[in-house]
Amino acid sequence: MDKHIAVIRGDGIGPEIVEQALKVLQQVGLRFGHTFHITDVGMGGCAVDRWGDPLPEEELKKCLAADSVLLGAVGGPRWNQLPGPMRPEKGLLRLRAGLGVYANNRPAKIWPQLADASPLKRELVDQGIDFILVRELTGGLYFGEHRTEGDTATDVLTYSVPEIERIGRIAFETARKRRGRLCSVEKSNVLDTSRLWKKVMHQLAEAYPDVELTDMLVDNCAMQIVKNPAQFDVLVTENMFGDILSDEASMITGSIGMIPSSSLGDGTRGLYEPIHGSAPDIAGKDLANPVGTILSAAMMLRCSFGMSAEADVVEKAVDAYLNAGFRTADIMQEGMKQVGCRTCGELIAGFLEKG
Ligand code: NAD
Repeated sequence: MDKHIAVIRGDGIGPEIVEQALKVLQQVGLRFGHTFHITDVGMGGCAVDRWGDPLPEEELKKCLAADSVLLGAVGGPRWNQLPGPMRPEKGLLRLRAGLGVYANNRPAKIWPQLADASPLKRELVDQGIDFILVRELTGGLYFGEHRTEGDTATDVLTYSVPEIERIGRIAFETARKRRGRLCSVEKSNVLDTSRLWKKVMHQLAEAYPDVELTDMLVDNCAMQIVKNPAQFDVLVTENMFGDILSDEASMITGSIGMIPSSSLGDGTRGLYEPIHGSAPDIAGKDLANPVGTILSAAMMLRCSFGMSAEADVVEKAVDAYLNAGFRTADIMQEGMKQVGCRTCGELIAGFLEKG
């Protein structure tokens, strides 16, 4: 199969981690007979330096012409003082809007080899933590009207039935491909938008008899994620609740460098990126953990290209790398072998070749 991937290396550790994911993809291509055509796209601080714009139209067009987009990270202190539209993060917002991606999917999984890195008690971790949080990305409070009049500020929270339906469908489809359990998270005891959310989710459930739908209030969910995270398979929630819960969910895994994410819209094209930022403190030092980016590439294979066997092989190669005792500095443990970003990528590509 031939696939075109737009690659945004970005700033800070972005170029280092993306390079490792590309090594792994190249190995996947060799093993399975696929050709991945890579188009480099300039976005973020590097694009501001070059063109005075964090995502020029021409660069966005390259993403729109691709089958999918792989992103490292953007931003850094060098660009923090710039006015709003020139900030690297604006490029990211424009990219998400341009690609029409409205569903952000973040797995929260604890690799058994890294169980000690989790801030949770060992007995909770040993129950197995492996869930996905599906967050609505382009509606709700963040996209409502914002206004300040005198000493009063107002932010408007709106959701429509079609907006809830489309994110709901993605969540049900995700649950269907996993363990078949979906928990819809809202605040229906207080908010009208949440009551509509709940009603629409239950209407959708009729088309997914193989998925068990439950409801949970967001404040309870925040507690349950640390009290009994093994109960969850797939969670679906609106934009602001998802923003907060997804950070909580990633923290319980204890290793920000290991977590991938995808953002999807109506078609198969997605935006895939690790959940962390550009880590300027370790940029250029060969210290970054590229596994989150490598696993993002695996998500791209599975979700955008329909290459599940290929994605499984990448995940198994990461497992083999951890089993062999290799660790980047951020997850280093006693008795393990510390490796840099480059070696980590080479080792995982090597395990993939052998595995
Ligand atoms: P960060 O995620 O970049 O870093 C937080 C801490 O985690 C740092 O100590 C860093 O060294 C460490 N870390 C992050 N990723 C790592 C990895 N792969 N391997 C090892 N250690 C890792 O968050 P921050 O410092 O708050 O933000 C830095 C910049 O990144 C800011 O400009 C921010 O706006 C930007 N940012 C970008 C994105 C994105 O591109 N999607 C997301 C978040 C933050």
